[in-house]
Amino acid sequence: MYLEVHTENIAERAHAPEIGDLLARFARCAQAKAGAPHEALSEELLAEFGDELMIVTPSGDGDYTYVHYGREIARVVGASRLGDRVSRMTPQVARFTTACYDRALADGAPAYTVHRSLKTIRVRLWERLALPTTARNGDRFLIVFSRPLHFREELLATVLDTSPSGIVALRAIRDREGNVERAVIVTANRRAVTLAGSGNESLLDADARTGLCFLDDPMLWRRCLYTIEFRRNDTFETCFARDGRDVWLQIALAPLGDGLVMTLTDISELKMANLTLQSRAATLALEIGRERATRRALSEEIGQREEREQELRRLAETDSLTALLNRRTFMDKANAAIAACDRSGEETSLIIVDLDHFKRVNDEHGHAAGDAVIRAFADLLLGAVRGDGDLVCRFGGEEFVMFLPQAGVEVATALAGRVRKALATRALPVSETLALQVSASFGVATRRSRETLPAFIERADRALYRAKAEGRDCIRFAETDLIGAAAAAA
Ligand code: GH3
Ligand code: MG
Ligand code: MG
Repeated sequence: MYLEVHTENIAERAHAPEIGDLLARFARCAQAKAGAPHEALSEELLAEFGDELMIVTPSGDGDYTYVHYGREIARVVGASRLGDRVSRMTPQVARFTTACYDRALADGAPAYTVHRSLKTIRVRLWERLALPTTARNGDRFLIVFSRPLHFREELLATVLDTSPSGIVALRAIRDREGNVERAVIVTANRRAVTLAGSGNESLLDADARTGLCFLDDPMLWRRCLYTIEFRRNDTFETCFARDGRDVWLQIALAPLGDGLVMTLTDISELKMANLTLQSRAATLALEIGRERATRRALSEEIGQREEREQELRRLAETDSLTALLNRRTFMDKANAAIAACDRSGEETSLIIVDLDHFKRVNDEHGHAAGDAVIRAFADLLLGAVRGDGDLVCRFGGEEFVMFLPQAGVEVATALAGRVRKALATRALPVSETLALQVSASFGVATRRSRETLPAFIERADRALYRAKAEGRDCIRFAETDLIGAAAAAA
């Protein structure tokens, strides 16, 4: 059972503000061991505090009888004890009460007590001030101010029992100088018992530092003392080992009376989850960083490879001097175009063109100048064709082939005519200071049904041969081609 008895520093310990006043009134008229004169003090105090006063007198057999029982006390207890004996209370409470009264009477000095009543349902902690008096006829009395510390005990008990947090109330025990010596646990809910790890043992009445193992830490105990002395709220986290595992508690302190109330929240899972999350986040960040770097390197590599492949393909497909299609690629593409024309039934034409007397260019101006002429002529051909579908190829030396899908002999002839006229009107640039006038001969063929590409080229080549034979700088047609084509060329 929780109980306190004090004869020193009563005013500082007391909760009820009236207690200081009562002590002062007693001190004004008290006379050594006799205490205060009963008639005068009882009259004065009953008038003002009667509802919360009890007056008891020794019954001569070591017991006490109630000769006044305040209405407010009776209301809280549930019945008046007027005329009853103190020994009718729970034996423990009765023993402690009698001992206090005996001592107060013997010393003629006030006694202040706090105890938890075991019988009343609603009130657990009672605060009492017993003032010894002597009547004129020598009879002894005690005028006892009595007030419950907590009225809302039932509500409190429910809240405490259902709270997911541990709740512990501590009351300070002070030495003669008024310094807090230790603290006693006066309330502790079930959750607090679990969190403190004291098994099924109740924490009630235990010394705070014994019952709550984490208060072993002198730092934490000091924070409790600060809360009690300076009446300041405080919150902190602490970790301690219980049953071989780390327990993290968040502890909130709030001053309460001459003590404090402590709220304990188990944040172990939160802490663990947090730690796991933090380490996962770090790993993830690392992985993301690594993956980004890899992806960047990879995309750079892919970009470079694509560029290289494109360049290689271009080099493989084209002639290095003119950048026109080389012979092999031309044959592939032209074969594909012929297949497409076979499917659609479109006409296809071919022009073979060869520069006239090119040997002379080389002989007179040098091989490099010859190269420049070939290049300039290639550009001229590229500018003359119709678009993406037409294929222009350097067939070899100064000989070129133009493959014209979806083109009849008229279109081919017109194109050859444009090229011939361009050569006639414009010298080809060789260097900044030199341009050369050259001419070319043209062989034109339109594809026969089902004709292979080599046969098709062969016919155009023969037409070219004739153009050469018939004086150069002219256009000739494959034998069986339309007579009308010749008219178109004229
Ligand atoms: P024609 O065709 O009118 O009968 O006379 P041609 O002088 O052009 O005759 P031919 O076809 O016999 O000679 C072609 C010359 O072109 C031979 C060769 O020296 C030259 N030639 C071939 N390829 C190149 C080249 O890439 N660069 C240069 N500068 N000359 C080349
Ligand atoms: Mg030639
Ligand atoms: Mg030639």
